[in-house]
Amino acid sequence: MFCEKCGSLLIPKEKKGKKLFYCRRCKAYYNLSGKLVEKSTQKSKITLIGERKPTLPTVEEECPKCGHKRAYFWIEQTRASDEPPTRFYKCKKCGHVWREYH
Ligand SMILES: [Zn+2]
Ligand SMILES: [Zn+2]
Repeated sequence: MFCEKCGSLLIPKEKKGKKLFYCRRCKAYYNLSGKLVEKSTQKSKITLIGERKPTLPTVEEECPKCGHKRAYFWIEQTRASDEPPTRFYKCKKCGHVWREYH
């Protein structure tokens, strides 16, 4: 038996107890009647949605705790909405969080 796509000789291969023919070049499987079964043997893995890493922008801001000069920042609306939003910083090095005081 030959591969209908590339003409290579198919090798007998067992897959999940089923006797199939396999093309090494195309990585394709054929059943005994010469029909293409499936190309990929791998079932698509369920992608685990992990914790989304916060991709916060960074600024040059000195950490009051360790003195590191790079920090993440984000803006949060605190308490009353008529108040100006507060800038928060998080030290890239030690993780210390502080807010900007106006
Ligand atoms: Zn082939
Ligand atoms: Zn720090």
